[in-house]
Amino acid sequence: MALFLSPLLLLRAPHSRSGLFFFVWFFLFELLMFVNCFLQVEIQVSKLYCVDKAMPTLPINIEDASRSEKEIEEALEAGEQLVRVNQDTRLNYRVLDFRTSANQGIFRIQCQVCNIFRQFLLSEDFVEIHTPKLIAGSSEGGSAVFKLDYKGQAACLAQSPQLHKQMAICGDFGRVFEIGPVFRAEDSYTHRHLCEFTGLDVEMEIKQHYTEVMDVVDHLFVTMFDHLNKKCSKYLEAVGRQYPFEPLKYLPKTLRLKFEEGVQMLKEAGVEIDPYGDLNTESERKLGQLVLEKYGTEFYILHRYPLAVRPFYTMPCYDDPKYSNSFDVFIRGEEIISGAQRVHVPEFLVERAQACGIDVSTISTYIDSFRYGAPPHGGFGAGLERVVMLFCGLNNIRKTSLFPRDPLRIAP
Ligand code: ATP
Repeated sequence: MALFLSPLLLLRAPHSRSGLFFFVWFFLFELLMFVNCFLQVEIQVSKLYCVDKAMPTLPINIEDASRSEKEIEEALEAGEQLVRVNQDTRLNYRVLDFRTSANQGIFRIQCQVCNIFRQFLLSEDFVEIHTPKLIAGSSEGGSAVFKLDYKGQAACLAQSPQLHKQMAICGDFGRVFEIGPVFRAEDSYTHRHLCEFTGLDVEMEIKQHYTEVMDVVDHLFVTMFDHLNKKCSKYLEAVGRQYPFEPLKYLPKTLRLKFEEGVQMLKEAGVEIDPYGDLNTESERKLGQLVLEKYGTEFYILHRYPLAVRPFYTMPCYDDPKYSNSFDVFIRGEEIISGAQRVHVPEFLVERAQACGIDVSTISTYIDSFRYGAPPHGGFGAGLERVVMLFCGLNNIRKTSLFPRDPLRIAP
């Protein structure tokens, strides 16, 4: 069988040292093939076009940007000085930085995290919603909002879809989720905080107990990790070549620990914690280590947090109101999810908001939503960039944000 092909083959020299960046088109003429044609092909180039060219010297060299820390150190020991491209330079020239194999892997993994999140929830009867990001007043309260002028009216960028996703539950959607931008104006100069990130949010009716929400977290994330390990191995390898990491250790059934148990474990390890206070970053890390040693997992749920450290809409525990029907979820000792059962009784919601110093008049439409009858419900919010960062054992959330926004950066 003979084939005659005269297509255009688009070839690209991706990491050219000189920086010249060609798109080369080959016309293939007179290509006749038999069964063994794939083994013996003769190509005659008759014309060559440059479709577009790059500047001769690029601001960062892709080869330099692809180098692992280990390569740089080893070269240094051997007396050779290799270029190290720092984080800020990478972000300034993000378009070039994207061309490294590690970054190609990171953002393809990120895409799969969203994909599994969506597919899993759709298969469990959740409805995808899109809540507004322009909010009247001051969102959920607190100072960490970007304020703006909405045609003469005070407004802000949504701190989370919290209030509106709950209102969707009041409107009988039963189970909802959203993948969307979240804005935080906190002055956090840490490796895990951004001023804009992508929220993976869920809210659902509860039939009997808030453990139903933790069941969803468990099944969803175990399914996600299994999928990433199975289907994204080449991307994970590409990330690991530049930023070496150990695969995440997790159990088929996610470990659940009560906050009090966590405090006890820390106490036994010599870390004193206020039983009604929050865990700080250091104690979260320490607990992560202890959990790994004792239970062999780096992914676990800590629940029944003290009420005092949770937002006003969190439901207190029925048997001890000093604690709440809430939870956080950790990967490698760092938080990726906060979740809880919410207060669905409007009078109690007002009481809790006032107790937390929130001006109830600014959230009156939210509170009114519960006056028409509302089901018991709960949900959770995860940060996409944090999930990818911690799954891949990366050291900075800016690596998993396409164009990161932090207190010092709003460009490119
Ligand atoms: P943290 O204690 O780490 O500041 P938080 O308790 O403020 O987080 P929540 O408001 O409960 O977090 O948000 C839910 C999830 O959203 C977090 O578990 C995290 O994955 C993500 N997240 C929160 N704040 C940020 C941020 N500034 N940048 C990136 N992701 C964030």
